[in-house]
Amino acid sequence: MKKSHGPAFRAAQLDLAKCPACRGRAVIKGVFHELACVQCNASGWVTAETGEALPLEVLVTQLSIRLQAAEQQIAQHNCFKPAGAEAQYNGNNRRGPGATNFTGD
Ligand SMILES: [Zn+2]
Repeated sequence: MKKSHGPAFRAAQLDLAKCPACRGRAVIKGVFHELACVQCNASGWVTAETGEALPLEVLVTQLSIRLQAAEQQIAQHNCFKPAGAEAQYNGNNRRGPGATNFTGD
């Protein structure tokens, strides 16, 4: 059995900072059109530690980790809505014949 001493693929989240050159917008306003920011590989993010652009293959994974985390947060926020199955059942009842019979006198 050979032991592999190659660098292990790490999917750990790195600390990213907004690119100071484009202020996280990934593009820089040119005279006639917007240019891809070279300082952050047009991602808007740089390594927080060094302020350098990440290699693309690392960048893609880091953005994916952040996107997944953001989607999870959105999903959690949606869970706070009181619109469970029970709330929907009650809401449907309120729109039943009793409510539509109300004439206001
Ligand atoms: Zn940039």
